[in-house]
Amino acid sequence: MSLLEIKNLKKSFGDNVVLKDISLSVERGDVLSIIGPSGSGKSTLLRCITNLDQQDSGEINFDGTFGLVFQDFNLFPHHSVMKNITNAPIKVQKQNKKEAVAHARELLKKMGLEDKEDAYPCELSGGQQQRVSIARALAMNPDILFFDEPTSALDPELTGEILTVIKQLAAEKMTMVIVTHEMNFARNVSDHIIFMDDGVIVEEGTPDEVFSSDNQRMKEFLGKFAD
Ligand code: ADP
Ligand code: MG
Repeated sequence: MSLLEIKNLKKSFGDNVVLKDISLSVERGDVLSIIGPSGSGKSTLLRCITNLDQQDSGEINFDGTFGLVFQDFNLFPHHSVMKNITNAPIKVQKQNKKEAVAHARELLKKMGLEDKEDAYPCELSGGQQQRVSIARALAMNPDILFFDEPTSALDPELTGEILTVIKQLAAEKMTMVIVTHEMNFARNVSDHIIFMDDGVIVEEGTPDEVFSSDNQRMKEFLGKFAD
């Protein structure tokens, strides 16, 4: 059975039909990238899967735990890095405090931030803040990590830091669903890619299949990233 399975998902805001009939599945250990123009429904899809929004109809079958990484980091500004990472594991998951702190230190080391546990978000670069937010998501031991444009708020140099971290997680077989505009990255890191446009999945397959697609909308979209 797939770790995550979505069948015939539909979602409207008023008379704006944002998700028209979305079906997809994600296997454990897979990396799925979702690409497509702004307004095509990518964030709404992630929000429905992660219960931030309620679909109108369709099924979402997923029993596991998830972590969510947003474009704008969403760290608590008045909490230290350590507290940002350990708060939910201790308060929500009732993890033992000592173990949660030890796990957080391990994750910070993995993110190259071992000296930042006492820092506050405003003292960190955007790339560092995003790595903290990835550590925070991992601290919940999620079955799936969802990323919604994790590098869109970062300049190219800091974008590279984050993509490197995500590649490392992919190599460790972390299951991930990644909404991204980084086409080369999506091509390299993904097992599967979905191209969404106007609330429908227009194309899906392996990176090679999707990037060599004859679909006109797919080709136009990829053409915008060619130069
Ligand atoms: P993407 O992430 O692909 O850019 P979104 O899922 O954010 O697309 O948005 C898809 C469409 O849904 C857009 O037309 C957007 O205006 C609309 N939309 C998203 N969230 C809301 C909301 N909370 N209320 C009303 N309309 C929304
Ligand atoms: Mg979006």
